Amino acid sequence: MKEWHEKPARKKFVSEQVGRLKKLFFLDGWTIHINYFKDNQGEAAAKMTTEWNYRRATLSIYPRFWDESEDEQKDILVHEFCHVLVAQPFLIIDNLREGYAFSENQIEDIHEHVTSWIAQIILNKSRQNIKL
Ligand SMILES: [Zn+2]
Repeated sequence: MKEWHEKPARKKFVSEQVGRLKKLFFLDGWTIHINYFKDNQGEAAAKMTTEWNYRRATLSIYPRFWDESEDEQKDILVHEFCHVLVAQPFLIIDNLREGYAFSENQIEDIHEHVTSWIAQIILNKSRQNIKL
């Protein structure tokens, strides 16, 4: 999959949205890499991969993304950021599938952390009326 130099106006749009979403999702200390691709990969318009331990995520943008309306593009980016939210629980699920064990405390910590995180996002959004 070849990376590609996207048009500056498109890059500006995505990086502005990513900046807002980082704030909305309390990801200020995180690094979000944005990769643009010349060719589509399956049905996806975008994809997010999360490296939890490094507080780092990579957002891939495929050409299909630009076929959508601006509102739809914003919705897609919210969806992709939600993947960061659920990355930790899915890290547990994926590891369990590979036979790795977690203690009850570890699972409870992650459960509580993700729940508080979601609550913060909802409360913050309603209080500050962050525009997407
Ligand atoms: Zn998805």
